[in-house]
Amino acid sequence: VRVPSPQNEPILSYAPGSPERAGLEATLKRMASEQVEIPILIGGKRIRSTRTDTVRMPHRHSHVLATLHEADATHAQQAIQVALEAKDEWARMPFEERAAIFLRAAELLATKYRPVLNAATMLGQSKTAHQAEIDSACEAIDFLRYNVHFAQQLLHEQPTSSAQTWNQTDYRPLDGFVFAVAPFNFTAIALNLSMAPALMGNVVLFKPSSTAALSNWYLMELLREAGLPDGVINMLPGDGPTIGNPVLASPHLGGIHFTGSTPTFQGMWRLIGENISHYKQYPRLVGETGGKDFIFAHASAADDLDALATAIVRGGYEYQGQKCSAASRVYVPESIWPRLKSRLQELIAELRVGDVSDFRNFMGAVIDEKAFKRTSSYIEMARHGGTEAAILAGGEVDRNEGWFVKPTLVQLTNPRHRIMQEEIFAPVVGVYVYPDARFEETLRECDQSATYALTGAVFARDRKAIRQMMDTLRHTAGNFYINDKPTGAVVGQQPFGGSRASGTNDKAGSMLNLVRWTSPRTIKENF
Ligand code: GLU
Repeated sequence: VRVPSPQNEPILSYAPGSPERAGLEATLKRMASEQVEIPILIGGKRIRSTRTDTVRMPHRHSHVLATLHEADATHAQQAIQVALEAKDEWARMPFEERAAIFLRAAELLATKYRPVLNAATMLGQSKTAHQAEIDSACEAIDFLRYNVHFAQQLLHEQPTSSAQTWNQTDYRPLDGFVFAVAPFNFTAIALNLSMAPALMGNVVLFKPSSTAALSNWYLMELLREAGLPDGVINMLPGDGPTIGNPVLASPHLGGIHFTGSTPTFQGMWRLIGENISHYKQYPRLVGETGGKDFIFAHASAADDLDALATAIVRGGYEYQGQKCSAASRVYVPESIWPRLKSRLQELIAELRVGDVSDFRNFMGAVIDEKAFKRTSSYIEMARHGGTEAAILAGGEVDRNEGWFVKPTLVQLTNPRHRIMQEEIFAPVVGVYVYPDARFEETLRECDQSATYALTGAVFARDRKAIRQMMDTLRHTAGNFYINDKPTGAVVGQQPFGGSRASGTNDKAGSMLNLVRWTSPRTIKENF
């Protein structure tokens, strides 16, 4: 069955003088001058808590954007009960009606909510206008429209029947609720983690990241305005274990839809293991959990060194390197390194870091003090690395007004150096230069040292080299790019996800992900 595909939402430029620029600037100004109260949301009710936290601008950390009401174990129990009460009506609603709510949300987001979501993502998560636009506008809209499209295709998938027997697949939701746990780095991911299961008829407990709570709260407002019934998605902001422990112990846990750190996901998996005999069903565990993404250049990439340099800079430093997909370890042959190195140094020197409300800046701040300290410690490690490490660009940090880290390039003589192996989640890129004759050996090294396997990019003109790289690095990345940066997967074009310590590879933005949120019933009827 052919279901006509939607189009990806076009990216607006925010060029000076454009109408979208004026709208966004006005919204930024308003949002920076108000203080929002972000409640707990259970069954459509806004609940205040005795425990609160503040949401601050990472690039101006004295500035409080919002007060966040934190949920505790009692709220979690309440949310489970309310979600289960909402479940029957939601699951029985015809698919087309559920779909219509999310398509209306896409349209509201493309118009009325676009400046709101973008401004909240810029101020709360320190994204530039362009980085916010491709996330909280375009990707979020794409998730809404494409998930509906993929679900329509999935529902058409039916078994064979005969004259006497009619076989059907009934795509039921899971028997219970889904726990969606979101990261700070993509507003669109927060939306997808909760809406994909909901679209398939599930009810959801949604835990936003506290540092992204402002944009995530506006997502809840958007869905309410689009007509999502109360109780279908319930938002529980606050501390992970305080909320997660009672939720994961519930016999009604149907699944978790997670994006975040590897240790957190493994901790949840362990807890689920301990509780395994208490559940009504085996919970679906879907998680995307980080990366240490490579760019591997072959000598034949010399033909277009600018493309390679641009991929390293954009892949490594856009959004301060805080994408799971960010380029963070680079392998370069000796023959092209001197030219590439000076090109990189030129490009990096031009990058402006600062307040994202100033549209000329290419980077904002890292998300919080913890990230700032962790990044600083890796930079210190490079600085005191003796002959093993050399800082070729950046290396400066500044915490006075915001959590600023200059884009940093470090050359390592050992491909197993911690900077080449550990996820730093910051604008720090490690480079290992290999003798051209050791191309194959270095490819194997890139694979064998990879505990993560999310994204990766190879650069070459030589077709045979491309084939070798595709082959040796077959399991090193779930999203593999040839002559492109390893970030910026587009919904409907590059389904996203990785394996090894990077996750369960249930490709976000594809039918493969939606399959996880249904528990199909096979029905046979004789005539
Ligand atoms: N999908 C994003 C990309 O391709 C990365 C998502 C993430 O950081 O988890 O760049």
